[in-house]
Amino acid sequence: MNSDMSGFLWFIVIGSTILVALDASHLDAGKHKLGGMADTSAAVWTLGTLLLWIVVLPLYLITRPKILAAWKAEQAAPPAVTIPQRRCAVCETLYDTQYDRCPRCAKGE
Ligand SMILES: [Zn+2]
Repeated sequence: MNSDMSGFLWFIVIGSTILVALDASHLDAGKHKLGGMADTSAAVWTLGTLLLWIVVLPLYLITRPKILAAWKAEQAAPPAVTIPQRRCAVCETLYDTQYDRCPRCAKGE
């Protein structure tokens, strides 16, 4: 009975640790520059959950909405650079393809 119980607890701990690992890395935890606990990386959340499950799992569940919101905001934001660029063959300047010629030396294609 006792060993059944601890087997069950291990199942819960390992199972929720795997879920935290998948969830935190999916949400890019620690990469959103949120400050404080929300900047904890997925690897640290995973290790913490495994080693200090009773403490770290609740902390993760409390922090998760913040990480999720930041992740969602990033998904919604357009990519930083959408304008295709071309490199001048003469002076090697990068310029937008909206220009026919290199704006710097007016020679390259
Ligand atoms: Zn040029």
